[in-house]
Amino acid sequence: MNIIWARSIVSVVLLAVLCVVVGALVNVKTGLVLAIVMLLAQSTFSTFHKQRLWRLLDAPVYGEVPSAPGIWGEIYYRLHKLAKRWHAQVRQVEQQHSRFIQAIQASPNGVAMLDDHDQIEWCNAISESHFGLDAKRDLRQHITHLVRHPDFVRYLNSHRYEEMLIMRGMGDKRQNVLSVQVFPYGENRKLVLSQDITELERTDAMRRDFVANVSHELKTPLTVLSGFLETLRELPLSEPERSRYLELMEQQASRMRHIVSDLLVLAKLEGDNKPPSDQMIDMRAVLRHLRDDAQSLSSDHHRIMFDADEGLTVTGVETEILSAFGNLVTNAIRYTPDGGAIKVNWHAQGGHAVFSVTDSGLGIPAADIPRLTERFYRVDRSRSRDTGGTGLGLAIVKHVLQRHDAQLDVKSEEGRGSTFTVRFPVYRTARRQPAPV
Ligand code: ADP
Repeated sequence: MNIIWARSIVSVVLLAVLCVVVGALVNVKTGLVLAIVMLLAQSTFSTFHKQRLWRLLDAPVYGEVPSAPGIWGEIYYRLHKLAKRWHAQVRQVEQQHSRFIQAIQASPNGVAMLDDHDQIEWCNAISESHFGLDAKRDLRQHITHLVRHPDFVRYLNSHRYEEMLIMRGMGDKRQNVLSVQVFPYGENRKLVLSQDITELERTDAMRRDFVANVSHELKTPLTVLSGFLETLRELPLSEPERSRYLELMEQQASRMRHIVSDLLVLAKLEGDNKPPSDQMIDMRAVLRHLRDDAQSLSSDHHRIMFDADEGLTVTGVETEILSAFGNLVTNAIRYTPDGGAIKVNWHAQGGHAVFSVTDSGLGIPAADIPRLTERFYRVDRSRSRDTGGTGLGLAIVKHVLQRHDAQLDVKSEEGRGSTFTVRFPVYRTARRQPAPV
């Protein structure tokens, strides 16, 4: 027997005993009246609490336990405990759900959930941007009404999702590439995962171009070399002719050597750790090298001026800085006709170390300037080849400067000359104590 039955029986028995006692002491009529009054009072009391219970079940209040005597107090207390437990469980589930949503939102990939009619049930922000969706507005919309790309519609309807779909021409500018894959789950539901592979495709294309360019650059001197070899083997040549051919072969071999050595420099720059930020470069030695190399390359055909603050230096790798600055000075001489002027500057400007090379040479058309640091990019192919260029010099400069957090700025006017300026960040700029006299 449960406690409610027990209590009810006890209270009925007590009431009956009370009525019998009153009936025996006073008279039967008074006992009956008392019994009816007691029954009415009990029924009013229980109706009041039933109503209260009804209201409580409709809108549970978790914070407080309504007070009531007897069994009703017990019911309220138990109900309150139950409601509190449910409330805690609901809160836990809500928290788990919100953490789950946050995790999917943080995913670098687009995630969209479709119901069994391919209607959007939910999608994260990345998926919104990939497909141009609006998570709130497009809820319960059929996905192919919003993503109308024919490849996507065909893929979704094919029900063959083992392979991913590559979607080109996506995004605002129709220039993005997405890789999309559908994963069926649950009862006919689908998960649409998407990833923006625009950058990946671009670097892939760059790699392919690079391999093609390297092959082309090496093929030309190789073809010339094999032609000369054939001539040497098959034609009876005089001694002066022979030595002329050998000299030309040496030139081609040296061109190939330069290309391969520049490629190795680039590969090393890409693979190496970032230059140290606490190692000061011996800028005096670098400037001395630059001056000597410039003089020997120009052979007195140009006016070369150096204006340098020799105490100023930067932190990083000396050989890399020498190679980058050397490329800029060498270019200035190579692309400046005899009689022209080259000015090299090394000074601090507002806390930044600034290196600049100005020449009065051929100059560069404005359209070519943004592409100068691309590998094998040349403004004038034949001139670059004539002066022994590999087309990799400025690519090396760009890499070295990037590694040292420095910026390259190019100003040029066709026929009047160019200025290449390198600006180092304040945190890489330093000053060497003058050597004791
Ligand atoms: P290259 O080995 O051909 O010189 P670079 O990468 O050093 O390759 O330079 C790329 C191109 O930029 C060159 O082919 C040349 O056309 C142009 N260039 C670089 N420096 C100068 C300069 N000081 N004046 C004119 N053109 C320049």
